[in-house]
Amino acid sequence: MSRPVVVIGAGVAGASVAYFLGRAGVPVTVVDAGEHTASHVPSALVNPVRGQSGGVDPQALAGVALTWALLRDLAAQGLPIPHSQSGVLRPVPDERTRARFEKNLPPALVHDWLSPARVSAPLAAGWAHVLSLPQGGWLEGAALCRALLAASGAEVVRGRARAWAAQSVTLDSGDTWAARSVVWCGGSVGATWAGLGAGLGGPHRMGTLLTLDRAPGPVPLSFGAYLAPAAQGGVLGATFEAPSPRWTSPHLPLASLGWLLGKGAALTDLSGLRVTGQWTGTRLSGLRAGRGEDGVWHLSGLGSKGFLLGPLLAQGLAAEVSASLASRAG
Ligand SMILES: Cc1cc2nc3c(=O)[nH]c(=O)nc-3n(C[C@H](O)[C@H](O)[C@H](O)COP(=O)(O)OP(=O)(O)OC[C@H]3O[C@@H](n4cnc5c(N)ncnc54)[C@H](O)[C@@H]3O)c2cc1C
Repeated sequence: MSRPVVVIGAGVAGASVAYFLGRAGVPVTVVDAGEHTASHVPSALVNPVRGQSGGVDPQALAGVALTWALLRDLAAQGLPIPHSQSGVLRPVPDERTRARFEKNLPPALVHDWLSPARVSAPLAAGWAHVLSLPQGGWLEGAALCRALLAASGAEVVRGRARAWAAQSVTLDSGDTWAARSVVWCGGSVGATWAGLGAGLGGPHRMGTLLTLDRAPGPVPLSFGAYLAPAAQGGVLGATFEAPSPRWTSPHLPLASLGWLLGKGAALTDLSGLRVTGQWTGTRLSGLRAGRGEDGVWHLSGLGSKGFLLGPLLAQGLAAEVSASLASRAG
């Protein structure tokens, strides 16, 4: 027996949907396999200015504000999440890259261009300019997902959904639950389990974070790869493997390790830092947020913006699901 809404997957997408439905008074069951959860990235940037082109999503500013507001609400409920709204520094290599970034920056985005000599972070030589984004920062992904689930009041079932439709979910155990709405948030691994060609988005991209014994500085640095503080120590990471049509089991090719260390060394002096571990995950692109033709709701394909846009899009989706439940009840 489940509650009226069943959410499949408890990464940042599913946990946020459950949280906002819970706040709207909708009873939710979350079923989560707990495997290969991209959202468990040890330290994720909340970074409104993306990639090496400096693109800014139209919802980035609202997303940043909502993510930090959510962390404050969760902390007020006794659920603190390791994070810092420290800002993010985006060094750029030349005038052309700066011009490309500038073209994309919306007037409402608080930012400043600094000379590398004026940056307090330990920046390596060779950068032309540094874009300072004081609204950004970092957070611990797994802690956020745990806190969202705890605050949602959802019933959480550890297991895998084998099949689902608009009003039912069948688990691997063979149990079938009836539901009034089903929301699919299975991420990269889930889209692959569900079968390719199921219209669940793509491509999939694997990446790795090296965990470090300490953070190279208090403010994340990001260009090509990112260096950031974490709850314990710091991280050097990126999503950099070739795009793939499916999720593949986590691995770190030696060539990728060399690439990552090179990007890290270009950002800061890595000498004296020790690698304490490795975390590898896969993210799914191809945003889907809304109800499909089969009546199943989706929030997936968040790409590299899971913590920038995930909670914001989940808030909107939860409002739509509640409105649809209310209209069917009336
Ligand atoms: C290396 C790396 C670095 C990243 N860095 C950042 C960053 O700095 N900033 C940022 O914003 N984003 C970052 N991302 C992206 C971000 O992690 C993802 O966008 C986000 O976590 C995706 O969340 P999700 O909830 O859609 O999927 P996931 O977090 O993958 O969650 C899906 C969950 O659903 C479960 N599941 C799947 N199918 C089923 C099923 N059939 N039944 C039950 N459970 C199921 C899975 O086991 C999993 O627990 C990074 C990603 C990677 C890989």
